[in-house]
Amino acid sequence: MIIAVDGPTASGKGTIAKAIAAHFGLPHLDTGLLYRAVGWQVAANGGDADCEADALVAVKFADDLLQNPELRREATGALASRVSIHPAVRSALFDRQREFATQDGGAVLDGRDIGTIIAPEAEVKLFVTASVEARAHRRYLEMRDSGVEVTLDDIESDLRRRDERDRNRKEAPLVPAPDALVLDTTALGKDEAIAEAISAVEHSRTR
Ligand code: C5P
Repeated sequence: MIIAVDGPTASGKGTIAKAIAAHFGLPHLDTGLLYRAVGWQVAANGGDADCEADALVAVKFADDLLQNPELRREATGALASRVSIHPAVRSALFDRQREFATQDGGAVLDGRDIGTIIAPEAEVKLFVTASVEARAHRRYLEMRDSGVEVTLDDIESDLRRRDERDRNRKEAPLVPAPDALVLDTTALGKDEAIAEAISAVEHSRTR
């Protein structure tokens, strides 16, 4: 069973995907991390994230980079959003995601285009979303708790910029697959959102 969990930044899709994977005993891939690794690597190479050729060189990052906590930073997320616009980068990362999705026994993948491009045949597709204010507030609390000094305004404007870029790009824009179930987590706590997602998966499997 392939489960696709797509949605914008800080919607809760990562937390939900991890919880679904643990509940159903499936492996999980956070595909945003691959784009973050490319974004981080392009900067480390002294390249320009907006240049497709520079970004394509950075696709050959070392696998252990995926463990680097710097990938989780907001600045790396912004670089990821810039490199992810390039079609050559998206196609270079395609096979790796496709192989993960189609492994024996199934898998859970979270990202932006899992239900539309990477695994359109997925048995379950969730599109997790929330208002930009709610997402900014969550991200703000997370960062404040981890000791990073940020303002809510800065986070909100960064999220808006990334949403705009992810939604309006030509290649694999952030849109729900026509057959995706939209889960709006604006008014839900973490446990409620996870419970709704698990019951949505159970429901889809029995359809
Ligand atoms: O999900 P996360 O915030 O880690 O993703 C970082 C960036 O990577 C996103 O803003 C998006 O531009 C890009 N991305 C993508 N396709 C995916 C996953 C992430 O374009 N499947």
